[in-house]
Amino acid sequence: MTHVIDGNEIADEIQVELQDCIDDLETAGVTPSLATVLMSDDDASETYVSMKQRACKEFGIDGIHHELDASAPAEELFDTVDTLNDDPDVNGILVQMPVPDHVDNASILRRIDPSKDIDGFHPENVGRLVAGDPRFKPCTPSGIQKLLGAADVETNGANAVIVGRSDIVGKPMANLLVQKAAGGNATVTVCHSRTADLGTKTRQADIVIAAAGTPELIDGSMISDGTAVIDVGVNRVDVSEQRSEDSRRESDQSNTEKGYEIVGDVHFESAKAKASAITPVPGGVGPMTIAMLMYNTVKAASIQHNVEIDLP
Ligand code: NDP
Repeated sequence: MTHVIDGNEIADEIQVELQDCIDDLETAGVTPSLATVLMSDDDASETYVSMKQRACKEFGIDGIHHELDASAPAEELFDTVDTLNDDPDVNGILVQMPVPDHVDNASILRRIDPSKDIDGFHPENVGRLVAGDPRFKPCTPSGIQKLLGAADVETNGANAVIVGRSDIVGKPMANLLVQKAAGGNATVTVCHSRTADLGTKTRQADIVIAAAGTPELIDGSMISDGTAVIDVGVNRVDVSEQRSEDSRRESDQSNTEKGYEIVGDVHFESAKAKASAITPVPGGVGPMTIAMLMYNTVKAASIQHNVEIDLP
């Protein structure tokens, strides 16, 4: 029987485990705080930021939110980041990506104080991850590592194939899985749009992690029996594209009324027929990304205030 990995349930467990850490910080007079900054008119970005702020409330973390007009000069965003860097009451800073075209993405990531960079995208934190001494592990890949552990998927000695080489998912995922550490020790292959014969690569995998941003790219014919399949993709697909009813999952129905549905990078039903374990979309990787953002914020607060806590 295929294990459908419930990301919501595992994220809830992390919330319970983090509570002790938050209580210990409170005892020391510290309430962890996360500042989110949105400079975009994009609906999806607004939704992601409000989900993160809602999670702050649920976890008992102070959520601070700054919103800038999408047409504001880049300097306004730099100034906002500088103010948050200097504010001792702010432990974590998250600038929701993408920022408008007139703002240089890399400059913003470099501007955030690395000790408050709870996304783990500052070059200093990327370097520490690659060197095997991570301070903040990027949230989506570290959430996937937790999911694999919770679902008893062995990474040690496994062939892991990652589809996607972005800085936020594919590359840090590869770095985590290849570490000589618990949850690592895998033999990692990273595929991308220039990879020849993707199916040959994915069929050799014990673990497939699909992060291509291409709806249902990986189907059952591209995996072998017993593979663990992690679907990172979040793709809005127009319902008028008329996918077959049986490939449409029950949880998609509410969005269907809005004219779109959310699908992953994996064709769920055909992959599930072969997989030993698989994450659904929604309800797989997404909730873990948010839980790990809260985790990193708590960790940032403990480092900045020099309070020892026992992180899960
Ligand atoms: P990017 O667009 O930055 O990167 C996509 C990667 O996939 C690129 O490396 C690209 O190759 C590769 N790719 C695209 N098409 C193919 C293909 N046909 N075959 C092989 N490789 C391909 O996306 P992100 O990494 O930011 O995100 C990936 C997906 O994950 C998106 O759907 C995104 O919405 C979702 N996501 C979900 C999160 C969650 O919490 N659930 C968090 C973050 C992202 P190349 O480099 O050659 O262009």
